[in-house]
This record gives sequence, structure tokens and C-alpha cells, in this order.
Amino acid sequence: MLLAAALVALAVLASVAGLQGPEFMWGTAGFFLVFGLFAIAVGFPHPVFGHVSFDRVAQVASILVLGPLAAACVNGVASFIYPWHRLRQGVPLPRVLMAAVHNSGLMIFVILGSGLLYQRLGGAVPLQELDLTSILLLLALLVAMQVINDLGMMLVVYLQRGKPRSVFNGFTSVVEFASGAAGVVLAAAFTQQSTTFFVLLLLVLVTGMLVIMQYARMRYRLEKLVEERTADLRLQAEEFERQATHDKLTKLPNRRHADDYLQQQINLAQRNERTTAVALADIDHFKRVNDDFSHAAGDRVLRRVALILREGCRSSDFVARYGGEEFLLCFPDTSIERALEVCGELRRAVQLADWSDIVSGMDVTISFGLAEIGNDSRRRTVLNEADLRLYRAKREGRNRVVAA
Ligand code: GH3
Ligand code: MG
Ligand code: MG
Repeated sequence: MLLAAALVALAVLASVAGLQGPEFMWGTAGFFLVFGLFAIAVGFPHPVFGHVSFDRVAQVASILVLGPLAAACVNGVASFIYPWHRLRQGVPLPRVLMAAVHNSGLMIFVILGSGLLYQRLGGAVPLQELDLTSILLLLALLVAMQVINDLGMMLVVYLQRGKPRSVFNGFTSVVEFASGAAGVVLAAAFTQQSTTFFVLLLLVLVTGMLVIMQYARMRYRLEKLVEERTADLRLQAEEFERQATHDKLTKLPNRRHADDYLQQQINLAQRNERTTAVALADIDHFKRVNDDFSHAAGDRVLRRVALILREGCRSSDFVARYGGEEFLLCFPDTSIERALEVCGELRRAVQLADWSDIVSGMDVTISFGLAEIGNDSRRRTVLNEADLRLYRAKREGRNRVVAA
């Protein structure tokens, strides 16, 4: 739509006004097309502002040498051609086509709008001399380009995403202004100075653009590298932290983590006067698994019991491997009566699980001893109480939960 509107504007203006300014020069137009493409291509990715390029150099110079209409044609074609290399990077055709159409449509509008305003205000095309008036007019041209460009970009973003978003940013505006100023000098050199001076200036500009691009790309790559390394280090640190706080075999939190967690719960209970139930669980006759089958079978039983306990609890409950075949469970905001029911279900789940693939002909059962964290509890006393009840559960025949 933007391209169509821009083309209509271009056609109407061309037929009404004719190609204002100098005669259309195919050679010069060809040069600005190539130079325009080069100036867009010598861009660099900016981590915040996206693709930054020096295309203003060619746009401003071509307006001041060829006039706005011819410059709109030349830069419109350059902007249309440029995005197609993205096909080779795997960008799908419709997106490339959209980018080409948007870019060239916007470019034609920017150049026509600002260039015609510049001429209407009395700006000379081709640019002749740089006195104060012409410098002010050139400033007006650069500002107009920036404003039309940003408004157009906002319109494009609005049409694509359905919500307005400011696209203005200081950094790219400075780059565009500096590029525009370089374009003015290039145009002045083209119309006034000798070919040697023009070629030298062009060489200086091209070299400068390439150097800035190389520097910016290198910085960008370095920043990316630092970002990647930082992410790797963070992952490594998380892995170390996990290894230090978790048990390798069952993947449950380990004893150290469990003690810290329990202390936290005790502190919370003292502040909030809430009840948290704690359970110590121990697999019954686990030595027999190791002795009658193997240590590897024992490990598999441990892993499966851990899974049953973890899956049988709420995600807000805490399940840790507290010792060899001993587990510590915490049920925040839960009374000991409710915890008794939960542990009863866990006990049943262990008993009823299918163990025949690991220890055929043998029952695996588990015993629990419960305690409650009150507002004057200490970690040691809570654990002792749970341990005593676990011991009683064992003495009274195992495969049971003792809470009092
Ligand atoms: P009880 O019903 O009284 O608890 O009897 P039990 O056989 O379970 O008694 P005890 O607690 O003394 O035995 C624990 C055994 O668990 C001893 C130890 O070899 C074994 N064990 C501890 N850690 C592991 C482990 O990581 N893997 C295996 N396979 N066995 C372990
Ligand atoms: Mg045991
Ligand atoms: Mg034990």
C-alpha cells in the first residue's frame, strides 16, 4: 500500500512538474544507485537499535545532485533491491517482499516530501554554494527527512502490529544526521570541484564507512560472546548449586538442603504462628534388598520410593533424602492430623506399587514418624520427636505411620 501510494505520488508529481532540477542523467543516476546500495549494505547490527546504516549519505547527495524526483526513483529502487539478499539467509519470500515494498515506499515518501519542501523553501538543486542560507535550508532538509522517516516507520509498525510505538531514538538520528552532512559535502564536491577531489572524498567516505562498520560489527560480536559466556557461567553456577544441594541418586534435595529448609520453616512458624508438619520416613528391611538382590537393585528401589513420595505430595510440600534410605518430608501450613492422612496414603502407595521388576517376591514398605513445628520448636527437638515416633513405628511392626 505504501509503495503503491508512493509510486502514485511520484507519477503525479513527475507528470505535473516534470523532472524538476537538472536534466535526468543516466550515468549519475546509475552511480547513486550503486553507491546507495553500498551505503545501505555497509550497516551494522546494533544490540538495541537494530540495523544501522549510512544510507542517508547517498540519499541526501542524490537529492542535491539529481533533484527529489530522480533521487526518489533511484533510492526507491535501491531500497527495493537491498532486502533480497536475506533470501539466502533463509528469510521466507513473503517477508522479504514485504520488507522491500515497505522500505522503498517509505524511502520514496521521505525523499519526495523532504526534497520538495527543500526546493519549495528555495533550496538549490543542484547544490551550488554553501552560504548561511543554504546551510539552513539543508538543515531543514535533514530534519524533514528524519521526521518523515520516523512518522512513516511508526505508521508501518502500527499497520503491522496494530498498536502505535515510538521508533525515534537518539543514536540512529545522530548517525543519520552525520551521514546527511557527509551527503551534503559529497553533493557540493560533485557539482563544484574537480573529479579528482570528488573521487578522493568518495574514497575517504567509503573507507570511513567500512572502518566504522568493521569496528561496530566486532564490538557486536564481542558483546554477543560476553553474553553467551555469561549465560554459560550462570548455567554452570546453577548446576554447581544444584549438585551441592541435591542428591545424585534420587534427584531430591539432600540433607544439607533439608536442614536449611527445616530451619526456615521453624523461623516462619515462630513469626507467623502457623503449623508445619514434619515426617521422617525409613524404608523397612532395606538391608535385605541389598543382601538378597544387589546394591544396584537397592538403588533402583530408592529411586522409585523417592518418586512415589515426591509425586504423592503437593508441590508446596518438601521431600528430601535425609540419609541412606531415610527421607524427610515437610508439609507447610498443615496440621499433624492432615499430615497423618497424607503419610498414610504415601505408605499405601509404596506398598501397592509394582516392585516385581526389581525385587520379585519381596514387599517394599515404609514407616513414618511425625512431628509438628510449633512456635517455640527447635530443629533438633522436632527431628528427635519424629525420629522417636519412627522408631516406635518400626518396633510396632513397620509399614505404619506414628503421629503421637
Ligand atoms: P529397618 O526396617 O529397621 O529400617 O531395617 P533396614 O534394613 O532398613 O535397616 P538399616 O536402616 O540399618 O539399613 C539401611 C541400609 O541401607 C544399610 C545400607 O547399606 C543401605 N543403604 C544406604 N544408602 C544406600 C544407597 O545409596 N544405596 C543402596 N543400595 N543401599 C543403601
Ligand atoms: Mg530402613
Ligand atoms: Mg535407616
